[in-house]
Amino acid sequence: ARIDKFKNQTHELIEQVAEYHKNIASINVKPDAKRNFLRKLVSSTPPAEPVGWETIQAQIKDIIIPNNSHWQHPMYMSWFPSISTWPAIQGEILSRSINAIGFSWDSSPLQTELELLCADWYAQMMGFPDYFLHEKSPGGGMAMTSAGDSVLNLLIVARHRRNAKKPVIYVSDQTHVHISKCAKALGYETRVIPSYFDEISQNYPMNVSLLPLAIKKDIEAGLDPIFACGTFGTTNSTAIDPIQQIGQICKENNMWLHIDAAYAGSALVCPEFRHLFKGVEYADSIVVNASKWMGLGFCASYMFIRDKKWLGDCFTMDPDYLRKSDDIDLGSLQLAFGRDNRALRMFFYVSQYGVSGVQSMIRKHVELAKILENLIKNDDRFEFCTKREFALLVFRMKGDDQKTTELIGKLKERKDIFVLGTKLEGRPVIRLSMNSEYLEEEHIHRAWEIIASLA
Ligand code: PLP
Repeated sequence: ARIDKFKNQTHELIEQVAEYHKNIASINVKPDAKRNFLRKLVSSTPPAEPVGWETIQAQIKDIIIPNNSHWQHPMYMSWFPSISTWPAIQGEILSRSINAIGFSWDSSPLQTELELLCADWYAQMMGFPDYFLHEKSPGGGMAMTSAGDSVLNLLIVARHRRNAKKPVIYVSDQTHVHISKCAKALGYETRVIPSYFDEISQNYPMNVSLLPLAIKKDIEAGLDPIFACGTFGTTNSTAIDPIQQIGQICKENNMWLHIDAAYAGSALVCPEFRHLFKGVEYADSIVVNASKWMGLGFCASYMFIRDKKWLGDCFTMDPDYLRKSDDIDLGSLQLAFGRDNRALRMFFYVSQYGVSGVQSMIRKHVELAKILENLIKNDDRFEFCTKREFALLVFRMKGDDQKTTELIGKLKERKDIFVLGTKLEGRPVIRLSMNSEYLEEEHIHRAWEIIASLA
């Protein structure tokens, strides 16, 4: 009877989820929620006795779904995509149902092997060199929770490899904050190298000419430069750092080169973007968030490393309760112990959409971004701040910055569109990212209507 109950309820839940996805475009992308709304709707004390399924279903319908910001909504154009495709949802159901904790090969042979396989699939899909494939090298990818989780591990390993006493790392002022946040937590110094407006890319890459001097100064001051990050697709404006030059400088100084390709890495699944990805031959590690443009849902950040031994040397411990295995134990290659099965989502998604399906979603977003780009270009109240490279548009109102600030303020008040305002060179910019699997041309026109009329 228990299992029947599970079946019936879960069927009903899937119905609710399917309806939610089917009708998502007809609701507002942002909720009406006010701070502390939940405690007015749900008791602050835990239920002493079981709550009926009907009550929970009603809570899903009336409380849980409506009070979310809807990241799958076509009018969600903020930050970056966090697409949860149906195979990803299926993978998560199966992962939770089996719920093995794959810290070692024998703790879950399937989980370990599937993760190695799927990391190799992903690396091949993005055209990565063989030295990031498990099958062909000592390197390869692991499915971590987030870019921050990956970088925390990598920064520890980079210090360990160099036996550095006073580590210092290098980022640009456009590098996502997770890197310096991890460095701060580990007690490392972070040097922020300024970006500049580059006429060729019309974007804000790191001013790499300033990097050698910064490193030299730190060495003279008795610090240990160990790590630099080049970003392939920055958060503010999808700028591409001069990774090749950063890599050469890293090589000369025996430093770790990390590539943060959290968002734009997945675009490499489409070969037409690969010419933008230069300098991978210098990379010790690359992080791509499959939770973003790949459609796997949060959390699934793939951390590729050139040699897994670097991780093992740093993190392998030998407690009595772990069977010693000569083969691969993924839990011994990371700081945390337990490991969730995050590869099932990749397996289901790539199997059911095929590489061509993955490419289609990315290409569709890029095409839709171009349509919006043209609408903005044809309105002389606006100007672009950077050149579009992927599916992100960064623009402002011409003239006084106050106009853009006010427009961002007005857009933020809207519940029917979710956009982000940020800053470049201290000036406000509007940032629109094509994010939803359900995004169609009509939503592009709707977004433009809202922005143009508020402007
Ligand atoms: N890197 C870039 C370029 C990002 O835009 C983001 C978040 O959007 C991150 C890293 C951080 O990702 P995570 O939340 O997985 O740590």
